Amino acid sequence: MFANYHTHTYRCGHATGSEREYVEKALQAGIRILGFSDHTPYDFYDSEPRNRPIRMKPEELPGYAASIRSLAEEYRDRIEIHLGVEAEYYPKYFPRLLEMLRENGVEYMILGQHFLDNEIRGWPTGRPFLRRSLLEKYVNQTLDALETGLFTYFAHPDIIRFMGTHRFYDHQMRRLCQGAKRAGVPLEINLLGIREGRNYPNERFWKIAAEIGNEVILGSDAHEPRHLLNGRDEETALELIGRLGLKRIETVKLRKI
Ligand SMILES: [Zn+2]
Ligand SMILES: [Zn+2]
Repeated sequence: MFANYHTHTYRCGHATGSEREYVEKALQAGIRILGFSDHTPYDFYDSEPRNRPIRMKPEELPGYAASIRSLAEEYRDRIEIHLGVEAEYYPKYFPRLLEMLRENGVEYMILGQHFLDNEIRGWPTGRPFLRRSLLEKYVNQTLDALETGLFTYFAHPDIIRFMGTHRFYDHQMRRLCQGAKRAGVPLEINLLGIREGRNYPNERFWKIAAEIGNEVILGSDAHEPRHLLNGRDEETALELIGRLGLKRIETVKLRKI
């Protein structure tokens, strides 16, 4: 990979490795642009607890930002490093999130919609379901996110696990792909999904993306430094891209938050 914009760190609580270890591994892997996108802190200010365990706490954000900025400076002759986050779009809490990210100079966000509505009360998008309204809600909520113009790309758009008819799935995913294309936002083929044999990448989804002509980018979604070596997962993704005739891009222009 020339560039990878999807990298986690130990701060989210379910990944391992310091920022420096990821940078060193990226160099070893021949990556030239490394974007950190740990699970964003979110301040659920009207709920208890205010923070959820899948993400760093708001008070950890300055340390995360400082560490990446200093590595970017230290390694600048060898690799380009960027400071980002992976964020869900939770309309109610989004304005406060933006404030926090801007205050800390975060350069970019990728959209990773792990819950519908929000994670205080909402459906985990990776859990199987039959209700059509939930699939429709997923598409509406993520398209609203993309229309803010603030997301650099859409991570694992095919995470959603609808178990109903293909007809309804295809219809909704066509809507999603068309909306992403209209908003000019690339879609990510997620290597973690391949690595762990998850329900994504979903070939049915990517056939639709090929038909609509979306731009597609690979994302390592590294939760351990060694994941940056990718290897076989990357080959599997490239095989899918070639077979379906997807339009691959290798770098993205970061969208300012
Ligand atoms: Zn994660
Ligand atoms: Zn991720």
